Amino acid sequence: MQLRASIQVFLLSYYGISAHARIDERNFSPAQIIERDVVIIGGGASGTYAAVRLREDLNTSIVVIEPKNRLGGHVDTYKVPETNTTLEYGVQSYMQYGPSVGFFERFGVQLGSFSTRQLKVINVDVETGKALNYTAPSAVATFDALKKWQQFVEKYNDLVEPGYWNFPEPGQIPQEFLLPFADFVKQNGIEAAVPRIAVISGVGVGSLSNIPTMHVVQAFGAPVTKAAVEAGFVQPLVSNSLLYQRAYNLLKDDVFLSSTIRETERGSSGIRLVIQSSTKEVETLIKAKQVLWTPFPSQDNLRAFDQDTTERQVFESWEPSWSYVGVAKIPCIPENSSITYLPQDVVPSNHIAIRDYPYSLSLGTTGPSGQDLFRVMLSANFSMTYAEAKAKVHASVQKLISAGTLNHTGPCKVDIKALSSHNGVSWPQEVEILESGFVQKLFSLQGRRHTWWTGRSWCGEYSSNVWTFTDTVLERLVRSLV
Ligand SMILES: Cc1cc2nc3c(=O)[nH]c(=O)nc-3n(C[C@H](O)[C@H](O)[C@H](O)COP(=O)(O)OP(=O)(O)OC[C@H]3O[C@@H](n4cnc5c(N)ncnc54)[C@H](O)[C@@H]3O)c2cc1C
Repeated sequence: MQLRASIQVFLLSYYGISAHARIDERNFSPAQIIERDVVIIGGGASGTYAAVRLREDLNTSIVVIEPKNRLGGHVDTYKVPETNTTLEYGVQSYMQYGPSVGFFERFGVQLGSFSTRQLKVINVDVETGKALNYTAPSAVATFDALKKWQQFVEKYNDLVEPGYWNFPEPGQIPQEFLLPFADFVKQNGIEAAVPRIAVISGVGVGSLSNIPTMHVVQAFGAPVTKAAVEAGFVQPLVSNSLLYQRAYNLLKDDVFLSSTIRETERGSSGIRLVIQSSTKEVETLIKAKQVLWTPFPSQDNLRAFDQDTTERQVFESWEPSWSYVGVAKIPCIPENSSITYLPQDVVPSNHIAIRDYPYSLSLGTTGPSGQDLFRVMLSANFSMTYAEAKAKVHASVQKLISAGTLNHTGPCKVDIKALSSHNGVSWPQEVEILESGFVQKLFSLQGRRHTWWTGRSWCGEYSSNVWTFTDTVLERLVRSLV
């Protein structure tokens, strides 16, 4: 008995875990224990990319833990029944930046230029549903203003891309980054760029005016601005999901889908993590040298991840946001139109006010013609459940009818075909927090407790930024394995 106890203490201390460790390895049969160099949490854009790079190129064994029943994260593809058509209602397109084109080529996924349908835009008052007399900036004005924004973001690109490894210490942050965005826009005469920035990035729901310009740089930095100015976005010819289906076929022996973390111990010399898969009756114990965390670091997500005080101090002040995208059949809205719900303050052309409302909603025709299908995009700065999101879409369509905006009488039968949640958290928005060394504190977590961090919370938020940044993390992670 005494011998068994000392063996246990030896094994625990080998893994750098105190004798009071919660995870008892004796509860797992050998078949339930997996050992790898790296355990990757999350199989979205960054987790899938990291898994392929580590296992295939960097001679590192991995295992991926993903709660959904597929890889791909924010990619959402809807197959229109009885047609050969698929609709992308999550991620739409990609920038030709960093390793992105090569990553698609690696899986034989052909890319073409990203094209959007030409839709008749109908701006309506978000409160009443009545048509709103808002004049959006012309294409020329938008382009000129975006060019000015491009000069600004390119000037400071090295501070933020790829990732914030070189971000200036407090006191040396460029003053423009700390300006409220409305002041920056006015000083630089870039009002006409605001709608495009807001629509592509979704930044600033609730108010764009007061957030520090730095947050808009984060959401709409140099690579995405270049793609917008040069119309350089690309998309897979078949579907956005194809990349992830092929990556899964390659990686599947090392991927746990439909699996969640139950418990984690990050000790001084390794990681032990218990996971539960919906397809297995028993739990699995994963032992790894390092862990790569990729989901957004909300307190909810980190609950089973053995967060310590230093990490909690960095993550607990992040701002939550709620976002739903989907596909709905809406027979009462004319096809080939796009309904955008806007606050009254935008009238007649006050572009900076475009997000001055606690939620934003748009409904745009997706095709194929005759199907009455619309892409739903709903974001809010207050908590919203699936049921509430659905109710908001239904009520917003009925508002159009009550206001006489649509040529339709009686209720409209809205049928939501698909809806997925993209809730998340983002950096705290107060200037004082940025000036107190927030970015340095965040990046000092890299490699600490055998833990590495990637994903959209750490760099520009688009897949291409995330992949470019992930390479900078993997470089360091692999060095730490030696
Ligand atoms: C609606 C929408 C549209 C977008 N459109 C584009 C676009 O057109 N082009 C573009 O480049 N970018 C787009 N983006 C940005 C998108 O965030 C990035 O492209 C990319 O998905 C970010 O990759 P990621 O790995 O950080 O996050 P994700 O791809 O979200 O991956 C995170 C993964 O972690 C999993 N996960 C969550 N919680 C846990 C947990 N507790 N434990 C384990 N796993 C967990 C999730 O299921 C997910 O699979 C869009 C984002 C949204 C929300």
